[in-house]
Amino acid sequence: MKHRRSIELAPPEGFAVEEKQTLATLPQWFVVHARCGVCGYQSLLERRGIARRCGLDLSLARLAGRLKCRECGNRSDNLLLLGKLPRD
Ligand SMILES: [Zn+2]
Repeated sequence: MKHRRSIELAPPEGFAVEEKQTLATLPQWFVVHARCGVCGYQSLLERRGIARRCGLDLSLARLAGRLKCRECGNRSDNLLLLGKLPRD
């Protein structure tokens, strides 16, 4: 069993988040983190949960606009960070 799970976070510039990219088209091995633009709070988003609530066709650009910080309640300037899980 492998325990090493390094996740590299890349800012949106690192991986081109295309306007059309959606939860459905984002490859499985990407994890999505959100970072608050105000307080810097960062959390891992549960892709499956979001897909269930918002639909698989939600674009990542739209998703970023819908985020709300759990810490301070901020809804604007939130960033999506994409990380890659190691592919075995
Ligand atoms: Zn915040």
